[in-house]
Amino acid sequence: MTERRENPYVWVTWISKLLAGEAHCEWAAWFKAHHAQFEKRPPTFDFAKWNAEHGRMVRERARALAKEGYNVGLEEQNKFNLKGASGATLGGKPDLVAVREAEVLVVDCKTGQTRGADYFQVLVYMLALPLCRPQYKNLSLSGRVEYQDHAIQIPPEELTQEAADRVWELMERVVSDDESARVPSAGECAFCDITRRDCPDRIDEAPDSLKGEELAPF
Ligand code: SF4
Repeated sequence: MTERRENPYVWVTWISKLLAGEAHCEWAAWFKAHHAQFEKRPPTFDFAKWNAEHGRMVRERARALAKEGYNVGLEEQNKFNLKGASGATLGGKPDLVAVREAEVLVVDCKTGQTRGADYFQVLVYMLALPLCRPQYKNLSLSGRVEYQDHAIQIPPEELTQEAADRVWELMERVVSDDESARVPSAGECAFCDITRRDCPDRIDEAPDSLKGEELAPF
């Protein structure tokens, strides 16, 4: 069933947790980049409920931005595939891309709690979009992560050369023919959809099973 891709393909959400330091197993991203078909564990959350909540948020925020005078593109309209010199592709789909005069605002809507990965997801969109859409190149690009009750703004200055270099360095490792390191841990494997068929190091025990056998002196 596992099928190797001819050219690696990386979805932005596979690398955003790694960039934020919220995940450490680069092999998971490397494996997905190189394999189109593989056995997946069932999702650990109610996807239909999430889809409905997320869709409602996206439409509400789009309406609000349109009222502020932005020309707003939604989800599929914003999908991009950024080709690299190696033949690999970085793909993404920002929830909203809003354009007003010389200003572009990239927005992603999150129904859950604040995570560093969300910030990096939008930062990567800000980096990739002008390379795919030349019309954004000379405009001021900023980002925003919208949560239910607050928003995190990402001004253009936060997309530094150092941040861009970190993204490209990680991409180079993930699309490389050389396998990245596997970093199994109960906490991270629990949220990984790769089964033991492809990842022999997978840890399925609950984190409680890692507790020490002896009592500590406190
Ligand atoms: S199951 Fe665990 S070790 Fe295997 S790829 Fe996923 S996170 Fe990494």
